Amino acid sequence: MEYMENCISEELVISVDHIQERFNQVYGRYDLNKSMIWMVEELGEVVSAIRKGKTKEEIQGELGDLMAWIFCLGNILDINISQALTSTFEKEVNRQFKVYGDLKYVKKIDTV
Ligand SMILES: [Mg+2]
Repeated sequence: MEYMENCISEELVISVDHIQERFNQVYGRYDLNKSMIWMVEELGEVVSAIRKGKTKEEIQGELGDLMAWIFCLGNILDINISQALTSTFEKEVNRQFKVYGDLKYVKKIDTV
């Protein structure tokens, strides 16, 4: 079924859970307000890097910084990031199938 091909795999969920746990081992339950400020600051650094035409590696670094704080917020708030991503992913896939009858923004991948 086409829908199943558009779900997030159990392996990927396990990987994201592992990453979240690793950040928990680094930051623990860091201060919520400071974490939110750091997250927004890192978002600004991502946007700035892109707008200033920084290298892909520099932008990648800033995205990593941003993601770190997203995982940190997940840990502070007891929110499982893989569940959050899976929910958002499935919501968008379902929306596109409902509205467009297919995934609108990507070309078909030949799965053979
Ligand atoms: Mg940064």
